[in-house]
Amino acid sequence: MAPIDDVSERAGEATAGPRVCILGGGFGGLYCALALQRYQRRLSVPLRVTLVEPRDRFTFTPLLYEVLSGELQPWQVAPPYRDLFNHSPIELCQDWVEGIDLHQRRVTLRQGPTLAYDYLVVALGSRLRPPASPDSPGALPFTNLADVWQLEHRLAALEHQSSGDPMHLVVAGAGPSGVELACTLADRLGGRARITVLDRRAAVLRSYPPAMQRAAIRALAKRGVEVYTHAPLQSVEENHVVFHHQGQGHRRRADLTLWTVGTVPQPWVGQPRPKQTPLAQCLVRPTLQLPDYDNVFVLGDMAAMPARGRDCAPMTAQAAFQAAPVVAHNLWALTTAHPLRTFHYRHLGDMLSLGRGDAVVHGFGLCLTGRLGSVSRRWAYWLRLPTRRHRWRVLKHWASLT
Ligand SMILES: Cc1cc2nc3c(=O)[nH]c(=O)nc-3n(C[C@H](O)[C@H](O)[C@H](O)COP(=O)(O)OP(=O)(O)OC[C@H]3O[C@@H](n4cnc5c(N)ncnc54)[C@H](O)[C@@H]3O)c2cc1C
Repeated sequence: MAPIDDVSERAGEATAGPRVCILGGGFGGLYCALALQRYQRRLSVPLRVTLVEPRDRFTFTPLLYEVLSGELQPWQVAPPYRDLFNHSPIELCQDWVEGIDLHQRRVTLRQGPTLAYDYLVVALGSRLRPPASPDSPGALPFTNLADVWQLEHRLAALEHQSSGDPMHLVVAGAGPSGVELACTLADRLGGRARITVLDRRAAVLRSYPPAMQRAAIRALAKRGVEVYTHAPLQSVEENHVVFHHQGQGHRRRADLTLWTVGTVPQPWVGQPRPKQTPLAQCLVRPTLQLPDYDNVFVLGDMAAMPARGRDCAPMTAQAAFQAAPVVAHNLWALTTAHPLRTFHYRHLGDMLSLGRGDAVVHGFGLCLTGRLGSVSRRWAYWLRLPTRRHRWRVLKHWASLT
């Protein structure tokens, strides 16, 4: 059996506070850990917070396109955890979670010792929807900084091989990620690339407001991106794709295919498995606790979090970001016998990058596009970057550029 890292059993720490284990350092987990630090001052015995996350950097995913376009630098969008936790007692455990034992209150890691906890926060996010057909494993994902580097590498290789004729790129999925990526690549590569977007569904940005759909269609058309809806992809081969459209099979050259067909929640690891929705999200109480476990919270993409005016919150950073401080409050409340808060997601609008210096921002009855949309979106995200120190560093850098 793996050794158990129970901090309270270490010599000299008999009075240490309850152990909080946070799994996943994304929008749910990281922002919960940071919010929890604000409650520590109000506790006579501070909580011992451990964040388990395999990567060394947090990724602010909505701004990942700006790294590809060169508008933002990687450190601004993906700050290392060690910088974010500077001066804070949060312990970072860089490892993969492989199992959760809800009865024994233990977390099994891939490499490190088993972690014992008093309170658990699960925020492991989601993974890419698997390829629609088993023939399409070759498509590149675009979900984190490593994917940006991989894409850069492939683009550089294609540019190197090219003898002057444009490269052919296919983006699978006309949801937000597909639209943002296609516009970014079109601006970056200009006439050096022909870009096609394919989606099996009927519309670009199917679940978004019509004003945003129109803005996206205009932006794609302006950049010469070809869009096919009602066009299910059949297979992705080494240098072409096969898709169906208007009752016919089409074969199209694809030097590179980008896979942006949406995500599904990470599967629950460990036993027992909590109750889940048909979409494999964990059912949670309005306090974001698991129904049968007062000491376990689940948030972000993995949880069917309650929402005003809809079944549950969408799988977005906006939803995880809103839920994180509620979980932090409730952890403090549980340890101090205060009442718990309930969470109801409130939709504040939508924002999408539409290429260099172009974006659409929709909410509160307004739809801003173009440069104004881009500037508004950038500042709205700046306000949500983690830690005051990191925001300040980014602001100073932006100021130095003007
Ligand atoms: C390119 C891109 C652009 C996006 N743009 C937007 C946007 O504009 N607006 C918006 O609202 N949402 C956007 N999203 C969605 C948003 O990123 C997610 O909904 C949000 O990150 C969910 O938060 P989370 O905490 O549930 O998961 P995440 O933020 O994904 O965090 C999960 C963390 O868990 C870690 N993890 C996974 N498995 C394990 C394991 N076994 N052990 C330990 N750690 C593990 C991961 O490394 C990750 O750091 C975008 C997503 C992508 C990929």
